[in-house]
Amino acid sequence: MVTFLAGGTGTPKLLDGAADVFDPAETTVVGNSGDDVELGGLLVCPDVDTVLFHGGGVLDTDRWWGIADDTTETNAELHRLADAAGFEPGPRYLDDEAQVAGRDIARWRRFSGVAEFMEIGDKDRAVHVTRTSLLDEGNSLTEVTRILADAFDLAVDLVPMSDDPVASIIHTDEGAMHFQEFWVAERAAPAVEDVEFRGADEARPSSETLDALADPVVVGPSNPVTSIGPMLALPGVERALHETPVVAVSPFVEDEVFSGPAAKLMEAVGYEASTAGVAEAYPFADAFVLDTADGTELDRPVVRTDTKIDGPADAERVARAVAKALAELTDSAGAEAA
Ligand code: GDP
Repeated sequence: MVTFLAGGTGTPKLLDGAADVFDPAETTVVGNSGDDVELGGLLVCPDVDTVLFHGGGVLDTDRWWGIADDTTETNAELHRLADAAGFEPGPRYLDDEAQVAGRDIARWRRFSGVAEFMEIGDKDRAVHVTRTSLLDEGNSLTEVTRILADAFDLAVDLVPMSDDPVASIIHTDEGAMHFQEFWVAERAAPAVEDVEFRGADEARPSSETLDALADPVVVGPSNPVTSIGPMLALPGVERALHETPVVAVSPFVEDEVFSGPAAKLMEAVGYEASTAGVAEAYPFADAFVLDTADGTELDRPVVRTDTKIDGPADAERVARAVAKALAELTDSAGAEAA
């Protein structure tokens, strides 16, 4: 058994070629839910959905979000209506009172659907309608995710990190904003002062997540702050990771990030924006997979390979490096025990 911790790009890219190395029937993927939003009343789970759509063979792998060849008629009509009514485009975060007045799972991540600021495709939207409706019918987010995973015929077990709300709030020089506003609407431009996982102290990891953390864990090359950070903020998760073999794949080559705002966010929370910073952020990691061009010296075992993932063949190569690192850990643990 093996468990992957996933955001919405780096780890799903790795999973794209992991099936020949890690049996999907024995693989659990724990998805970040810190950057979920409620948009126009619908719960959207971007990271979980990327794994869902990828597993279902329908992911748009040019963007690593949304469904390939989806239409956007409803989104376009939402913009036309808002424009005709004189509303400015852009995120419309509900006021503080409304943030805590709706569904519990939506706390501190509720946006009005007027001029829908995230482009939700038409088929994509059907997933959010189904998810939100099943939640309203009384299912937990974990149960709903399993129902959707069956509908997409996923080979791996996909679980959200928690059934409770955790909202990634980015404190910037332009004020506090939800991660999706910072990333999708602001293109990560504002200066970041701090990152908060609102609700994490009262949230619990789901029991399915805790069970999965008893197996060896792979932290994929995801953003350490806003993809893995929300999981680490949940009570008990870091402790569980300290007690199981963990291999982490760096989303950096030394201080070069492959994509996204990871560097800026890491600096904002006090880590060096580099592989060394990732190692510092992951004290529970027992070994790392780094790029061959990454000369960072770490105090833990390292397996090197070309970590640029551009399709299944690359993903399989990186997955083999992960498997090698895990095998070395378990062998040495076995030798110590003997
Ligand atoms: P998000 O939810 O979309 O932010 O996605 P993740 O957190 O899962 O992944 C974002 C991270 O993936 C970024 O920090 C990138 O540096 C990393 N990444 C993207 N492409 C690659 C790649 O080809 N190789 C590696 N090693 N990391 C990558």
